[in-house]
Formats: sequence, structure tokens, C-alpha cells
Amino acid sequence: MPLELITVPCLADNYAYLVHDRASGRTAVIDVPEAGPILGALDAHRWRLTDILITHHHDDHIQGVETLRACTHARVWGAAADTLRLPRLDETLAEGSRFQIGSEEVHVIEAPGHTIGHIAFLMPTSGYAFTADSLMAGGCGRLFEGTARQMHATMQKFAALLPEMLICSGHEYTAANLRFAATLEPDNPALILRIAEVATLRAQGRPTLPVKLEVELATNPYLRVHLPALKAAVGLGGADDATVFAEIRARKDKF
Ligand code: ZN
Ligand code: FE
Repeated sequence: MPLELITVPCLADNYAYLVHDRASGRTAVIDVPEAGPILGALDAHRWRLTDILITHHHDDHIQGVETLRACTHARVWGAAADTLRLPRLDETLAEGSRFQIGSEEVHVIEAPGHTIGHIAFLMPTSGYAFTADSLMAGGCGRLFEGTARQMHATMQKFAALLPEMLICSGHEYTAANLRFAATLEPDNPALILRIAEVATLRAQGRPTLPVKLEVELATNPYLRVHLPALKAAVGLGGADDATVFAEIRARKDKF
């Protein structure tokens, strides 16, 4: 049985996620932009938080950790590579780490680019990928610490997952990301359709996440840098994929 999954809007445009295993009662939160909305969602479902999973060290993903820890005594999990910049960790993780949340085996992958120590949590049985500020809906995180080449390699890890996986990323940036994507692929029918769907969701005040990986593969330019049409669109026909990736990421910074 898949874990129950709840999207929790936080701050101005962040998302935290709650997953719950009914049989064991284990409940984990992925990232803690602020404690209040997460405590509210736990209360509404009558769930007891057991685990706090952290993707990376930025304030808008960890600010509420100490409050949540104090209120719930949950165990805190995060990257061994970033212990100096993360809240105190009870468990440290690296590429290939595996642990259980009830019936679900969580797989950790390192996802550098946005920050060096950024990790993602995969829950293959349930079909969830918690990507925070690495793979985002219609885009990818800004390169604050890593290189374009690192982020391109990170994107390739996600592209290889099952297309049915639900991507759970950290921000509601989808509309702006797709506006940029449309400058590269104005005639992509999947992109045109998605822009309309996202506009409808946002007009209703609803999150555009989670989203299936297959939608990302069809519309997210950072997952499409191997396509000759996309290379040509940025004047780099024949260039290698990582070079095209770097050019697209640089253009987005100025968009
Ligand atoms: Zn971040
Ligand atoms: Fe963020």
C-alpha cells in the first residue's frame, strides 16, 4: 500500500510534504520551511510525526526543524556532507543510503547543483521522489554552489526513474518556469497544454505539485537538452548536452 501523501503549503511559495504509513503509524515530513502549517496538518490527520527528512541547508527548508523536533521528538535525517550547515542530525545520509518509513524503503540520492550537499529522497514502492530545489516543476533550482555540469548529471538521475513517479519539489515556481520553457519550445504541444493546466490550477489557488515525471520529461527543458530541436533553439546545434544545459540555466537567470 502506498504511503499517504499530503502537500503542505508554507511561507510564500514553499511546499513541505507529509507521508504516513497507516500500518505502523510512522509519519515523516520532507523539509520544514516553518513549523506551524506542518503541525496543523499533523493535527488535522491525527498523525504523530516520527521523522524529519531534510533535503538541503537553505533556511526556507530547515527553519522550522527545531520547533518541530521540540514538539514531536521526531528523528532528524540529512546529508552527512552538510552536517555543519544543517540542524543537528540524528541520522546521516549519503548516496545509496536506505532506511524504512514503515513499509516503505526510502532511497537517498545525492543531487548536487543548487547546493553541494543537496539530497533527494526516493520512495519507489509508493512512487514518490522528493526533489526540493534540484528538479523542480518545469525547471530546476538556481546554481548557488554547484556547476551546470553537476546539475545536469543530477537531472539525468531523475530522468532515469520510472515515468509514473510523482515529483514532489520544494516551491510553487511552475508558472514562471513554464513561461521560460515556452521561449525555448513555443510549439511543444505538451508544454502549451501544461501552461493552460497550470494557469487553471493557480487561478483556483491549488498547488501544481506533485507532478508525474512523464510530464516533466515532455515539458521541462532541463530534461530535454539532448533533443536536437532544443540545442538548435539556443544556437548550439551539435554541442554536448551539458553545454546546452549550462546555456539554458544561464538564460533562465536573466529571464
Ligand atoms: Zn534552496
Ligand atoms: Fe528553496
